[in-house]
Amino acid sequence: MKKVIYPGSFDPITNGHLNIIKRASQIFDEVVVAVGNNPDKKTLFSVTERVDLIKETVKDISNVTVTDYSGLTVNFVRKQRTNLIIRGTRDSSDFVFEKEIANLNSLLDDQIETMLIFANKDYELISSSMVKEINRFNGDVSKFVPSPVLAALKAKGSHEKN
Ligand code: ADP
Repeated sequence: MKKVIYPGSFDPITNGHLNIIKRASQIFDEVVVAVGNNPDKKTLFSVTERVDLIKETVKDISNVTVTDYSGLTVNFVRKQRTNLIIRGTRDSSDFVFEKEIANLNSLLDDQIETMLIFANKDYELISSSMVKEINRFNGDVSKFVPSPVLAALKAKGSHEKN
């Protein structure tokens, strides 16, 4: 049984994240999407909202579950009884960032393995921050996010939380 953790902010989940989740669900037996709860980070959606939006989005993928976590990612991964992390990478700046986090995590726990999945070219320009920026100015983000997120963004309007 290969279980992998996909940690992130997911503020909110985009079609780029969803593509990574779907591909991971075909490689691994179980995928846990883990939404980081970091009270110091300003987010548009609360952690509960972010978890609920992902749950709604992945409800038809049987081997994917969603939860939130606080504290160090490596501790959460260990509590989940696995040592595997996946992250996505769109370009060279993502690569440098992801390499730093992966190295840091293996310094904290040398059993942790981080695997990178390259963004699909159709989704490589999509980021949560770009989606929020376009939405803030009432632009159309329907191509970039799953439908539950589209509805939530409309309901949220242009007001940042915190
Ligand atoms: P972070 O956890 O760094 O705050 P996100 O929650 O936006 O960032 O993303 C979680 C993970 O998904 C990161 O590894 C990020 O590189 C990756 N990711 C974000 N957008 C995409 C995309 N469009 N395609 C593939 N991977 C992505």
